[in-house]
Amino acid sequence: MRYISTRGNHPAVASARAIGLGMVPEGGLFVPESIPQLPQLDSNAPYKETAYQVLAPFLSDFSDEELRFCINNAYSETTFDTDSVINLIKLNPAYSIMELWHGPTAAFKDIALQIMPWFLKVSKEKIGNNSHTVILVATSGDTGKAALEGFKNCDGISIVVFYPDEGVSEIQKLQMSTTDGKNTFVVAVQGNFDDCQTGVKRIFSDPVLRKELANKEFELSSANSINWGRLCPQIVYYIKSYQTLVCSKQITYGDPVNFCVPTGNFGNILAAYYAKLMGLPINKLICASNRNNILSDFFSSGIYNINREFYRTNSPSMDILISSNLERFLFEITGHDASKITTWYDELGTSGSFQIDDQTRERIDSLIVSGWVDEKQVLQTIRNVYDKNGYILDTHTAVGMAVCNTIGPFDNHTVIASTASPYKFSCSVLGGIEQKTCEDEFSAIEQISSLTGKPVHRAVDRLRDRPLHHNTVITIEQMNEQVRAIIESLKVR
Ligand SMILES: *Cc1c(COP(=O)(O)O)cnc(C)c1O
Repeated sequence: MRYISTRGNHPAVASARAIGLGMVPEGGLFVPESIPQLPQLDSNAPYKETAYQVLAPFLSDFSDEELRFCINNAYSETTFDTDSVINLIKLNPAYSIMELWHGPTAAFKDIALQIMPWFLKVSKEKIGNNSHTVILVATSGDTGKAALEGFKNCDGISIVVFYPDEGVSEIQKLQMSTTDGKNTFVVAVQGNFDDCQTGVKRIFSDPVLRKELANKEFELSSANSINWGRLCPQIVYYIKSYQTLVCSKQITYGDPVNFCVPTGNFGNILAAYYAKLMGLPINKLICASNRNNILSDFFSSGIYNINREFYRTNSPSMDILISSNLERFLFEITGHDASKITTWYDELGTSGSFQIDDQTRERIDSLIVSGWVDEKQVLQTIRNVYDKNGYILDTHTAVGMAVCNTIGPFDNHTVIASTASPYKFSCSVLGGIEQKTCEDEFSAIEQISSLTGKPVHRAVDRLRDRPLHHNTVITIEQMNEQVRAIIESLKVR
């Protein structure tokens, strides 16, 4: 499989190269040149086997042995607390919850970020790349910790995480700043998530820095979902959950289902779209937004416009205005029209908005339904689902459920992607259940544990007692300089 740029500005590369580069250096994102079709799948297959079947054609430059090595390291008893990696919970005949948060940091991002470091390690060996890779991550909270856990103590790789100083929860901040490991750097930025993401993109396209780096045998890469190595492992769980529905006889093989995905950067829902392109019987993709409803506005109007207010909500990992992976989606849905994508994204760069054509809109309308909910609806939904089903949703998953309640019911069974454990956003979650303000994250964690009768997720257990390892705070303008300084310090080691 070869990877091409969404803007038609880069020669096709093998997957090892696409993963190593992260994004197209000239701007644009790598996408597979064609879509492999799903083989006949055994619905009883363990997660690792499904992962192998799905990933092999995308990573065709990896040998069987290399790919199985990556999969076995990523999805082991030490990394995930369930053999099946994900759990599918039947809420009622209409809805299932796909729990994607059984990894080390309690967010769905673990599923990709536990395997991506192994992809990168194997990729580097394959192409004989001996330089030290510096992974740059911009995070709205969850990616940062998941990437730190995935990459910590990886030989030949260091990781730098930038997060908005006041844009992440107390728990997320603590999770990141208590990360140990000799190759981890965590930096708070005085700005919002989009500032961090734009800052990271600016570092990537800083030609002076790039040249300096090459001379010093360092190179930059990314672990954000703009990296294909992040995206392709996410396709697996859509297919796995479908198999599970077949296995438990809730559907028969071939029946269409819907997936509802609480969306920020458009990565997770894009993986569902790739699963559909591969032949998984998906009817609708439900794109659920919080009050930062740029995506649901886009799907209803055809206009993507970032000139709008940014809100901090109780689903902070979706507080995003620039959904990077939308570019890949538009490239696929326009039939690989790189010149359209280039025009639209040039317009986005200059005026902060672009408008798609009617033909593209029609294609999107037949596939995507979207909606958004405010914070009150999120809390109300957490309470309703708890009262009715005794099941506790996290705030992001509740955005998905609430949007389904607003725009449903649907003809087919609908699987809601549960992107975080309720423990990760305990105060908000408990606030929803008890309908009063919650002051203390740590006692909220304990209370959720007693409500569910289940032990606290290991990602947040005893978090308060762990030593702090990181406390750097910088301005947006200092990001390039910070990376330079970190690289200098790595040289000395
Ligand atoms: C990252 C994240 C999201 C958004 O996922 P995207 O792939 O960016 O759309 C939703 N929920 C949680 C808990 C997350 O960590």
